[in-house]
Amino acid sequence: MLVVMDPNATSDDLKRVSAAFEAEGSAPRTHRKPGHLALSADADPGLAAQLATLPGVAEVQPAVSYVLSSKTWHPERSTIRLGEGVTIGGPPGATELAVIAGPCAVESESQLMRTAEAVAASGARLLRGGAFKPRSSPYAFQGLGPGALKLLARVKSATGLLVVTEAMDEANVGPVAEIADVIQIGSRNMGNVALLKRAARCGKPILLKRGMAATIEELLLAAEYILAEGNPDVVLCERGIRGFDSATRNVMDIAAIPLLQLESHLPVVGDPSHGTGRRALVPAMAKAAVAAGADGLLIEIHPDPDHALSDGPQSLTLEGFADLMHELNALRSAMTPA
Ligand code: PEP
Ligand code: MN
Repeated sequence: MLVVMDPNATSDDLKRVSAAFEAEGSAPRTHRKPGHLALSADADPGLAAQLATLPGVAEVQPAVSYVLSSKTWHPERSTIRLGEGVTIGGPPGATELAVIAGPCAVESESQLMRTAEAVAASGARLLRGGAFKPRSSPYAFQGLGPGALKLLARVKSATGLLVVTEAMDEANVGPVAEIADVIQIGSRNMGNVALLKRAARCGKPILLKRGMAATIEELLLAAEYILAEGNPDVVLCERGIRGFDSATRNVMDIAAIPLLQLESHLPVVGDPSHGTGRRALVPAMAKAAVAAGADGLLIEIHPDPDHALSDGPQSLTLEGFADLMHELNALRSAMTPA
């Protein structure tokens, strides 16, 4: 339930609404931004009528869809700080394209270091690499786990890059948050409410990947769980949805990028690696995502993709990535109004 307060509501009005929620055993959360004040809680819809009569209450929405992630609540596009000197989002062109690049999985110190050096040399600031891998098969490489977190920490301090890595379950949110600048929630976990809430509470920005069969509304509702938990720093990621044609791994839904930006103030990143599953298609779809207005990209790269332990066929070589970065820079300059 969402209670939107009148902009002139007093603190006593707010206390009365909180007390009404608490009397029913729910713990309301307050959401503020200039000119807007609201309280949200999971409460019996029967409480709505009573709340609507309280002074200072403008509107009660017993069953709402996404609110905090919507443009209605926050008309300006959010700028999110990902870490030291790196932001994403905001008005078109206001921040640099945030390129997150690295291997699907961390495999060894030398693999990660070579990749990180290529990322830094290209001008990108964000290194990705999975420590815990949600593989479709239990017999496939599952990631190096805590050992990979140590390698990420070491490479991060050696290169100054920011680290993006996935937390797969509630138990590894804590260890991941200790070293990661941004916590990734993967496609398979987009609707894992307990994980969303736990990750939200660690205070780090969250990169939320669209579920492989999730609608736009379901993605925004997943983001809403994080925002409602009090963490405003959510970056949405379009990573392709399941289609009928196995010619590509997924169908990269380019229209989702401007659509999410129409509906929501949150930054949007395109992932052409999982979106296509094919190295040869990644540069074209990366450029398409940027042309469609993406605030950033997630790109898998590997020093030796043919021997990668996961997602090799969709990983660019380090040289291929350097070439793509040149093209992206040219594209971004062409898109900047003179
Ligand atoms: C990944 O980023 O390596 C990954 C597993 O992505 P997704 O959750 O989109 O499949
Ligand atoms: Mn991958």
